[in-house]
Amino acid sequence: MDEFYGWAGKALDINLTTGKIETKSLDRDWAVKYIGGSGFGARILYDEMPPEVPALSPESVVIISQGPLGGTLTPTSGRCEIIYKSPLTGITGRGNVGGNFGPQMKWAGYDIITIRGKSDKPVYLWINNDHAELRDASHLWGKDVWETIPIMQDEVKDTVNDNNYRGNISTLLIGPAGERIVMSSAIMCGPSRAAATASAAPIWGSKNLKGIAIWGNKGINLAKPAEFIKICEAKREKLKEDPFYETKQQYGTLSWVGGAFARSPLGKMVVGGKPTEGLEEHSFDAIIERSLACTGCPIHCAHFLNVKEGKYKGTKGEGIEGYVQYLGLAWQTPSAPFLAKYNNLCNQLGSDVAATGWAIEWAMRLYKDGIITPEDTDGIEVTYGNEDAILELTQKIADREGFGEILADHPLGAAEKLGKGSDKYASHCKGIATYTVSPGISWDMSNTVAYNTATRGFDYLSSMTYIQLPGYLAEWIAPEILENLAEEKYGGAEVVLDGWAKDIRKMKMVQGSQNDALLADMVGICKFASAMLCPRGGLEMADLGELITAATGEVVTAEDLRKAVEREIATERAYNAREGIRRVDDYPFFLHWQLKHGEPNPLWDYEQMPFTLETYDALLDEFYKLQGCDVKTGIPTRARLEELGLKDIADDLEKRGVH
Ligand code: SF4
Repeated sequence: MDEFYGWAGKALDINLTTGKIETKSLDRDWAVKYIGGSGFGARILYDEMPPEVPALSPESVVIISQGPLGGTLTPTSGRCEIIYKSPLTGITGRGNVGGNFGPQMKWAGYDIITIRGKSDKPVYLWINNDHAELRDASHLWGKDVWETIPIMQDEVKDTVNDNNYRGNISTLLIGPAGERIVMSSAIMCGPSRAAATASAAPIWGSKNLKGIAIWGNKGINLAKPAEFIKICEAKREKLKEDPFYETKQQYGTLSWVGGAFARSPLGKMVVGGKPTEGLEEHSFDAIIERSLACTGCPIHCAHFLNVKEGKYKGTKGEGIEGYVQYLGLAWQTPSAPFLAKYNNLCNQLGSDVAATGWAIEWAMRLYKDGIITPEDTDGIEVTYGNEDAILELTQKIADREGFGEILADHPLGAAEKLGKGSDKYASHCKGIATYTVSPGISWDMSNTVAYNTATRGFDYLSSMTYIQLPGYLAEWIAPEILENLAEEKYGGAEVVLDGWAKDIRKMKMVQGSQNDALLADMVGICKFASAMLCPRGGLEMADLGELITAATGEVVTAEDLRKAVEREIATERAYNAREGIRRVDDYPFFLHWQLKHGEPNPLWDYEQMPFTLETYDALLDEFYKLQGCDVKTGIPTRARLEELGLKDIADDLEKRGVH
């Protein structure tokens, strides 16, 4: 067999219908072309999940994929990517998860695990290096994530010789929410890490797959080990040079919301002009007990939380992302102990904190405007600030019980079931919910275009022009650093300084940050170490090229990586086009509504919005041009697809009449 370095060189294919498990070899040229992680996944999804196959059918395929740097000494390489057709949106679905599954998968000897078919009873998959088997999971079905992990580890521990099996046998699981095909459910790695965006967990629920346990000790072959280790050390030092490094170590994503968003004009708009004091990242200081890290990460951005007093005393658990704090702002329940309680409940149920949260916030707004009453909500007063109601609804959603049966399909499915004009409130982009007060608008113009043009629906993680975040401009980054960066990367400080300006140069920022973000998912590192989220110390294309070359022995340049990431984006855009996505789907909700209905959405005063349709159109035109997409449709052109080595995709689109 061809010897692989960096990549493990193998894919594991599981058919849940037949129980057949096969190991396949990777094709080297294919690996070099698509690199790994989301790059592998996008191509397999295009080839194996055509429009004729519904996301929740037995034939649907879920791909778990690693990059060539995953599980190595590269800082933050403890991630892995899950790729699927989303049952929520019907288009590209992708979730990236930290913890230790990705490294264990690589150490067991696999770059790709593909799951297809449907088991006739609940099962889980146990992978121990070359050994893989399906085991009965009937006794685990209905159990929450925290209950399931130790049972599963105990059941398989005898086949490994590992005193630290609790720490090393990694699990990817669904909880009760995923089993009940709840659209806001998540695949959980360990007790708190979630692959959540665009609903992979309902697919596992529909396949009767409770989860995967994995343990590997085969290590990773490296082409030039000594050189690779040296480069890793240098990149680790480079990361420390980033002006945000220490903030990330201390607060992780909590710094985004408390530190930047709450102080921004948009933050104030979101909380309805209410003061945002007290919502800073350090409002969590009293309950943060210690830092936690994914495998091999020097940043250790996560936390172990322990609430020592008050109503939620005794609440202990891992995690908490800035997103939960953002929800605290939206719900008017900013107390850190309460948010820790909510976070834990979601982790146990296998629910996505964000999607569940937006479903509840949607209900709050409907309740406030009298669209729904206690008669619709099982008697619950769904008012802003009502912590008990939030916890009760979270449980009901995971159980699909009562009003939870409606909220479980938020946003579009829920609005359709409820009726009463609730679709006006169901702010979304390509089926992914956004906060209703700011209907698809982000911090500024570039991030608004970035989030709404992302291939998996409204998405702050597929492209974030970090340099633009408002709090940083004033307080976190010295003006000269900002100006130099803006000059260097985007052609002028003014491109960055005026957040809402109609300046088409901003689209280069969007394209650049999108490339940096997706490259992290391809190679197998965390976005917290990527150039997207570290403007000074992040691992840029040249750094990653150096690392991949030393790891794999294939010469991979920055230009090769730029092309590979643009290939992934074009593949995903073509995939979405084949599913019916067009330009109208790349607008923020208030404009999308106007274009679809021929009139403004009555909930918002368009005069008060920070930009107009005309401004957005001009920027979108420019963004499409940069991406090689047809300006009318948003579909990658044949010329672009061929330039990226995707002629077969161009032919497929033509054959299917996609234009
Ligand atoms: S920065 Fe945080 S999320 Fe990223 S790998 Fe490190 S600990 Fe995990």
